[in-house]
Amino acid sequence: MSATLPPKSFPDSDHPACLTFHGDLPDLLNANKRGMGSVKYPVRRRASVKDVIEALGPPHGVVGGLMINGINTDFTPLLHPGDHVEVFPFTPPVDVTKPTLLRPKPLPGLAFLVDANVGKLGRLIRVLGFDAATANDEDDSQLAALAFHENRIVITKDRALLKHSKIAYGHLIRCEEPQEQLRSFLDYFGLAPPFRPFSRCLECNTSLRPVAKEAILHRLEPKTKKYFDAFQICPDCERIYWPGSHHQHMRNWLAALAHT
Ligand SMILES: [Zn+2]
Repeated sequence: MSATLPPKSFPDSDHPACLTFHGDLPDLLNANKRGMGSVKYPVRRRASVKDVIEALGPPHGVVGGLMINGINTDFTPLLHPGDHVEVFPFTPPVDVTKPTLLRPKPLPGLAFLVDANVGKLGRLIRVLGFDAATANDEDDSQLAALAFHENRIVITKDRALLKHSKIAYGHLIRCEEPQEQLRSFLDYFGLAPPFRPFSRCLECNTSLRPVAKEAILHRLEPKTKKYFDAFQICPDCERIYWPGSHHQHMRNWLAALAHT
């Protein structure tokens, strides 16, 4: 909302604005309107189209395109009585490195901030080698500030979080099972093999580096010492990684994922 204009209200009107929600956005409308494609909205106050969309349910973080009276627009115009608004979801694959009318400042690359409510998904994203920090103790404002300052895309199940003004890019997870969540995540951002599996620490997201077996011999269990020779270490938390049975299990799973 502009600070240079005095506040004003619109008179109650016989001509409500009409907002049409496309794709899966009707599922995100508030309970009394859920599933409706078009919503009549009586414009009684001065509010941007973004504020009105969010008041109806969908967070701006899931809106990929916007038209008012047939013209592509950004989030800022005020809604007027009689306006026809078309609200579109993102169309996968989503490329966050290209500027759009809604998001004129693209991101330099793919980096994620994974909310604690999808923590297992965060680990799976890190298994594939993507930069995916996990938010644990941060409140919504801290999490949004972190995403903003580190140019990260927020991955969450929390619809309200993606309404935060500092969050430009987000992906709302709507399924429960972590592998299904990963499939949805990969499809959304158009990510496909080759990945760089086992290149990041699963716990703290730091890139791993090779470490000589002799340097960590004192930390290895007898069987690990006997059967394995190649090791990596996290320079931050010093966890040690090696291609054990869980490693092969994960590789099989990744191979299966690539063919689904
Ligand atoms: Zn680590």
